Amino acid sequence: MIHQHLKKFKAISASKEGITRLGLSDWEDKAHAAAAAAFSRSRRVKTVKDQAGNTFLVNGEGPGPYVVMGSHLDSVPNGGWLDGALGVAGALVAMQKVLQKHRRAPVAVAIWADEEGYRFGNGLWGSRAFAGKVPQEEPLLLDRDGVMLAEVLAERGLQKKLRRSRETGELVPRFVYKPPFEIAAYAEAHIEQGRQLIDAGKRVGLVTHVSGIRRWRLESMGETNHAGTTPMRERRDALVPIAGMVGRLPQLVRGVNNGVITCGAMGVEPGVANVIPNKAWAIVEHRAPTDRDQDETARRLKELVATTGPRAPGVGLEMLPISNVRPMPMSEEVTSRIEEICKKAGVESMRMVSMAAHDAMSVAHVAPAGLFFIPSLRGISHRPDEDSRREDIKLAGDILTRWAMAEVQRVL
Ligand SMILES: [Zn+2]
Repeated sequence: MIHQHLKKFKAISASKEGITRLGLSDWEDKAHAAAAAAFSRSRRVKTVKDQAGNTFLVNGEGPGPYVVMGSHLDSVPNGGWLDGALGVAGALVAMQKVLQKHRRAPVAVAIWADEEGYRFGNGLWGSRAFAGKVPQEEPLLLDRDGVMLAEVLAERGLQKKLRRSRETGELVPRFVYKPPFEIAAYAEAHIEQGRQLIDAGKRVGLVTHVSGIRRWRLESMGETNHAGTTPMRERRDALVPIAGMVGRLPQLVRGVNNGVITCGAMGVEPGVANVIPNKAWAIVEHRAPTDRDQDETARRLKELVATTGPRAPGVGLEMLPISNVRPMPMSEEVTSRIEEICKKAGVESMRMVSMAAHDAMSVAHVAPAGLFFIPSLRGISHRPDEDSRREDIKLAGDILTRWAMAEVQRVL
């Protein structure tokens, strides 16, 4: 059954180059509608949409609390067919099975909008809204074409258009959200997107912590001049200190438990071969599963900036914070229950840290939330050839079913 749901999702916005189903788009809407269609014949299951673009399939009425499972149906450009879709398909199967047994069970499926945050660079959009973690200013974010998130939300009928302040003429930041119900407990199945499980020969990864992600902008200001006629000692080259720091980043996470650091974006201006750069910037992000480790990496990065500055006289060097998603422990209660289900089924599991962010991380702010992984073939993801073994895909649905069945009995 889980494969039927997955095939249906795969058919939406798929091409030879993979799945391109960006968040807050018509393609994402189509996928949400396809998931809701699984309960189109049910009189009790209602489709509930909220002010962030999330879709919930809710059995019953009232504020809950509900036993909830879910994930997302948006993708990165040319992504794979299982990232997110696995958790939604598994949740649909589990809810269908639970309702066959307990018609009135307070159970729901959550399909979180725009998890990838590809267009505006802000991940976990829908689940963060539910958890009250969307700052008022966030709708002011612009995409690459200068379109504002607030415009997209207004166009899609999710939020009112932003108004301008009479005094300053500036847009007044605003985001209104009320969660449609309360969550008693939440579980999410996801593909691992890495190779820890394959390497350990285990079928299920129980996530104890999701690592935090902190982003910084390193920026330097120098002066343009002729690349031929300006002697080396008279230059104020903005790129040299930035490039030197980027080269030293890997050293900064040495000895930091599960620490990783990346510069995935940088720029140089004016970007002309025979002109000395007057401006350079680099975005650096680092991840680790505890605040202490994150703080340690940040301290080392600050030190690197402080010691690099004096070696580049005449160049202004700055380190500006962009965002800080704190590491998140998952619910021990939910995790150990899923662990128990694996044990009883004779499935080998292991506890692990997730280095990628997932919606369960947002839900954990407002309810006990658990997250488990099945192995990704060759450890690859966010690619058209992302895949998992057929029996592991089925296992994800089975685990969710057993978990929801037990959880519902506790609430009933
Ligand atoms: Zn995902």
